[in-house]
Amino acid sequence: MGFQALRGTTDLFADEVERWAAVEQTVRRVARLYGYQELRTPIMEDAALFLRSIGETTDIVQKEMFRFQDRGGHEIVLRPEGTAAVVRAYLEGHLHKTQGFAKLLYLGPMFRAERPQAGRFRQFHQYGVEAIGSSSPWVDVEVIALCLDMLRACGVKSCSLWISSMGSRDDQQRSAQALRERLAPQKATLCKECQTRFDKNVFRVLDCNNPQCHTLAWETTAGQEARGHFASPFLLTQDSQARFDEVRQGLRSLGIAFDDTQVFARGLDYYTHTVFEVRALGLVGKGAVAAGGRYDHLVEELGGPAVGAVGFAAGIERVLMAAGPHVSAAASTRRGLYLAIATPVLLQEGFRLLQQLRERGVSAVMDYDGRSLKAQLREADKQRCRVVAILGEAELKAQAMTLKDLEQGSQETVPLDTFVEAVAQRMESACR
Ligand code: ATP
Ligand code: MG
Repeated sequence: MGFQALRGTTDLFADEVERWAAVEQTVRRVARLYGYQELRTPIMEDAALFLRSIGETTDIVQKEMFRFQDRGGHEIVLRPEGTAAVVRAYLEGHLHKTQGFAKLLYLGPMFRAERPQAGRFRQFHQYGVEAIGSSSPWVDVEVIALCLDMLRACGVKSCSLWISSMGSRDDQQRSAQALRERLAPQKATLCKECQTRFDKNVFRVLDCNNPQCHTLAWETTAGQEARGHFASPFLLTQDSQARFDEVRQGLRSLGIAFDDTQVFARGLDYYTHTVFEVRALGLVGKGAVAAGGRYDHLVEELGGPAVGAVGFAAGIERVLMAAGPHVSAAASTRRGLYLAIATPVLLQEGFRLLQQLRERGVSAVMDYDGRSLKAQLREADKQRCRVVAILGEAELKAQAMTLKDLEQGSQETVPLDTFVEAVAQRMESACR
């Protein structure tokens, strides 16, 4: 019996890697357009970082973290999300002093011990941005616009933006109090977990997976019959309402369509004011491909200044699912040169040419095992090479090589002494 990859983890082979690389490149390019700079943080972090930021009563912390003790007995976590780590790095790297307002991009694996299914993995990958150090609603607008731009550039054609406001911390305290009062008479009918949540973080009842808790919380919220038409459980002051209006106004001014009719709470504790989700057709659950929001207290809670911040994260696996097979045209095009050797005695001469091609920036491969010419040509096609060149005694004698373009089906003869240059030029113009 051989070994298998762990449940909820996957290997990516060549074609898949091409699609992933296309997403990564696209994301980096679009981030640059908006002035975001990449930050890479470690995959492991101190467990306390996530307990403090995401919140002790959240599903992530209670059930989904890969947590272990290192040899020194320290509690370590494989990061379940990016935001807390980015804020930690922002503070540890003194960006609050040197930059103040920092616009950061990250990409990489995240880990959650969830039940694996289509679009839900234990090691999954996110790209995301965090704009740290401003409370301007325009930054919310920019982050949302950037999120949609990246998805579009990655080939996600049909997706919808949902936005909502969870209000300020003060609003949330008042709202929690009100929700608790309304839920109190039915507290005994809530699931065991929600009874704990009732005291510790009553908003978690709103997104409990148990339908009874969920319905109860939302119905009690507005006291109306039909689901979907409830007033928000988040009681916003005029200021918070005005702030939300500014964000919506900003989005409208950019021609960005959104749906604000559905109130929702994001599953992490640190969110305030704007929260948003982008949903795409054909994905798991409600189809979330990216999600984010504002978090105005996290920087301070992690030991920094009282500055606002906003960000989002997108799941790369889900982006690729939503984009379908067309995300990268590059994956299917022929590339590089295959140097076929007519007789094994020419291997040394062939290898010399191969290295010269590589030095000149041409991707080049050859066979080292003395296979027949026919087998080599088959291999060139299988590896999806663009050009085949044959090196044999006849070519050496004539001091000329034949280049076959497998994409165009054309053929030309070039002098051996200018072979490398001729191939390089052909490849350059083919890539343009
Ligand atoms: P969901 O509702 O699907 O569980 P979430 O609210 O837990 O998502 P976030 O923590 O907001 O997700 O992460 C942002 C994005 O990361 C999601 O929209 C999704 O694309 C992706 N994501 C989250 N968890 C997973 C997972 N286990 N496998 C694959 N992608 C994931
Ligand atoms: Mg989740």
